[in-house]
Amino acid sequence: MFESLQDRLGSILNGLTGRGALSEADVSAALREVRRALLEADVALDVVRSFTEKVREKAVGAEIVKSIKPGQMVVKIVHDELIAMLGSEGVTIDLNAAAPVVIMMVGLQGSGKTTTTGKIAKRLTARDKKKVLMASLDTRRPAAQEQLRQLGVQTGVDTLPVIAGQSPTDIAARAVQAAKLGGHDIVILDTAGRTHIDEPLMIEMAEIKRKSNPHEILLVADALTGQDAVNLARNFDERVGITGLVLTRMDGDGRGGAALSMRAVTGKPIKLIGVGEKMDELEEFHPRRVADRILG
Ligand code: GDP
Repeated sequence: MFESLQDRLGSILNGLTGRGALSEADVSAALREVRRALLEADVALDVVRSFTEKVREKAVGAEIVKSIKPGQMVVKIVHDELIAMLGSEGVTIDLNAAAPVVIMMVGLQGSGKTTTTGKIAKRLTARDKKKVLMASLDTRRPAAQEQLRQLGVQTGVDTLPVIAGQSPTDIAARAVQAAKLGGHDIVILDTAGRTHIDEPLMIEMAEIKRKSNPHEILLVADALTGQDAVNLARNFDERVGITGLVLTRMDGDGRGGAALSMRAVTGKPIKLIGVGEKMDELEEFHPRRVADRILG
């Protein structure tokens, strides 16, 4: 594994103990290590730049006190700033709207959208005692609709029956209607992804949004997304307007830098994280834990 930031900064800064305040040069040397650590954690380059500038402002001129090693002091500044940027603890799905509350799931193909749809539906049903309806809007891959139906059977959550030949927007409208008639509290729309962002995808998402008036639009993204995270989040946010993020595969080896990148470019909260393939492997987002992980 990589050397921890604490160790790296220790070797650069700890000789300064008892020397007054951190100078520009000390801070610049430290920030080179911070930059390296963030890039190794897969934080996007632009975000690394703006982040290190914030840390610079806080660190230059900071008094070196005897009780704390200068390296530790900078690690603390970095850590606090990371937590501040990652956002607050415990922001979760907002259900505060007239029923049926529509939750629209968006993201690239393979990001974990369908799995997360099932996980959220299960949690809202089992824990919050809500009546949930799930609908697959992926008309390009019949297997996707079948996958959601199976998750519905497995979790005991209703799924909208498939009618061949309907467009994604028609299905969205039918899902909302069916939820009204069926007395469902919540409808989760599992939209189709693509392997990459393109114009037709964005147009389709905007149309579905217009037809279904979602209260939440959650961008599901793989935590292992590297430098592309910024582009992905910015595009979905500008074109569709997301209300939050869900990061999947946080159980993997990645350091989770995508969390910082996506949060930084959109300003939208990370609401949940996926930590496995099973239906109960969904957790709240804890900024402190992710900050620790990014720093290694
Ligand atoms: P979609 O194309 O966006 O709907 O993606 P899927 O929901 O089909 O997920 C793609 C693959 O990722 C499946 O094999 C899922 O089991 C897996 N997956 C989804 N979320 C997680 C997660 O949090 N952790 C792990 N390890 N695998 C996940």
